[in-house]
Amino acid sequence: MDGNVSWCKLIWLSQNIPKHTFVFWKAVQNRLTTQDKVRQWGSYDLMICPLCYNDMDSHSHLFFKCKYAGQFWGKVLVNIEINCGNMEWNEIVNEFARKFNGNSIGSVIRRLSLAASVYLIWQERNNKLFRGKQRGWEELYKMFHETIRMRLMNLKVKPICKVQQAWDAKMKVVTNGTVADSNVK
Ligand SMILES: [Zn+2]
Repeated sequence: MDGNVSWCKLIWLSQNIPKHTFVFWKAVQNRLTTQDKVRQWGSYDLMICPLCYNDMDSHSHLFFKCKYAGQFWGKVLVNIEINCGNMEWNEIVNEFARKFNGNSIGSVIRRLSLAASVYLIWQERNNKLFRGKQRGWEELYKMFHETIRMRLMNLKVKPICKVQQAWDAKMKVVTNGTVADSNVK
């Protein structure tokens, strides 16, 4: 990690979804209560990832080495046209902080997508762990897409067509939009 400054850029932006930002903020600092932490506190049961049962429940596993999370994340990456599928969690955060910290619509969508992905995976992990419920990753992806689409429809943007079509989102187009038109999906 390059230090707080880099990932802070991903957190404190007006376009973010607050509940996503909160979970993402904790995830960036490795402060979500994953079971590798519980183990450090002295409990040795329930250490396996509840989404795939293949590895220990930890930040680096959940985001996004986990087979379940990885399938979901892989589809997100295709949609936002990024290739960082093999990166470790802290490398992913650094990559996003370095490349997508501006106000272009492409950067905004990518930041929203990363935070939404973390939020949804964490929520799914908790649902499975505490309620025994788990949706298919495809279903989770549909929820992701709808979440981003709804957020985009509430952003004021300069005239752009590509993003609106790509996300099937009718956006508020204004000449002095807070999000600049980058023509990047
Ligand atoms: Zn897993």
